[in-house]
Amino acid sequence: HRCKSTDQGFGFFTEDLTIQTQNRVRLENQLRQALLHKEFHLVFQPRIDLTTGQVKGVEALLRWVRSDGKMVSPADFIPVLEEMGLITSVGEWVLLRACHYASQWVKQGYNLEISVNLSARQLKQPKLVEMIERCLTLTGLPAEHLELELTETSMLEEVEYSIEQLQKVRALGIKIAIDDFGTGYSSLAYLKRLPVNTLKIDRAFVKELEQDSNDINIVRAITQLAHSLQLSVTAEGIETPRQLALLKSLGCNEGQGFLLAKPMTEVDLLHHIKHFDMALLMPVDSPD
Ligand code: C2E
Ligand code: MG
Ligand code: MG
Ligand code: MG
Repeated sequence: HRCKSTDQGFGFFTEDLTIQTQNRVRLENQLRQALLHKEFHLVFQPRIDLTTGQVKGVEALLRWVRSDGKMVSPADFIPVLEEMGLITSVGEWVLLRACHYASQWVKQGYNLEISVNLSARQLKQPKLVEMIERCLTLTGLPAEHLELELTETSMLEEVEYSIEQLQKVRALGIKIAIDDFGTGYSSLAYLKRLPVNTLKIDRAFVKELEQDSNDINIVRAITQLAHSLQLSVTAEGIETPRQLALLKSLGCNEGQGFLLAKPMTEVDLLHHIKHFDMALLMPVDSPD
């Protein structure tokens, strides 16, 4: 009965599309409910200095637990929020919450930066800089403790406007990282013009580092390029001690990944920082 909606003989496709459309409408309705019923929260994943093992900062990651208890991945719902035009308000909520937490940590004496992901749509938002300033003022977080992560693709969508916006953001003292570096349309010509501080090497290059010498060469090249442009390098998705050792020996400055720490609630984060000595995880010698 796959063909029940067919008149023209396209039934197979029509029905699949109908189901897709129904699922999509349901997801959109659930997201509207989620906003009303406050089903979103933030978790935090530590970002570690690969030389000292110190926690330099944490990345805020959005979580959605539906009313039925199921978790939905941000990779699945953020693009939908973007298309629904809701990402600017959700993004503002994320930034305000993230700055609020970070400001508490700084007041308690933790020297931590908070990294917040911004979507392409947010970068095009005309009042972005004012919105960010408002979050800092409302929470009392010093600008130097905030880093914004954007993908290359979103920065290059309207590149001149992006550069202008990011320059204003940087002028406030906020840091900027290129997220998922190496997977978008990386244009080296733009890299020198984008006002960024950090390249975050995508997990795709870290995943098979141990097996694939091409990935080693790519990471080495990215790191050398970044350092020659005075940029810092963070590696994402470190899951094994060998990956950690390789990335450290290739010159990556900082690292993030399940091996070092998973994303966690703010209560767990403070406990983690107090009780875990990450330096113990750091490799002593360079592997060869
Ligand atoms: P991202 O910014 O590149 O974040 C890193 C993702 O990798 C996170 O997935 C994190 O949980 C995951 N990860 C970290 N270490 C490891 C590891 O060792 N192994 C593996 N397999 N994964 C690791 P998550 O939280 O599911 O987020 C997925 C993406 O959704 C993020 O990628 C980001 O693009 C987007 N996202 C998350 N929160 C927000 C937000 O507040 N705003 C926006 N605009 N996007 C967000
Ligand atoms: Mg990110
Ligand atoms: Mg990333
Ligand atoms: Mg990524």
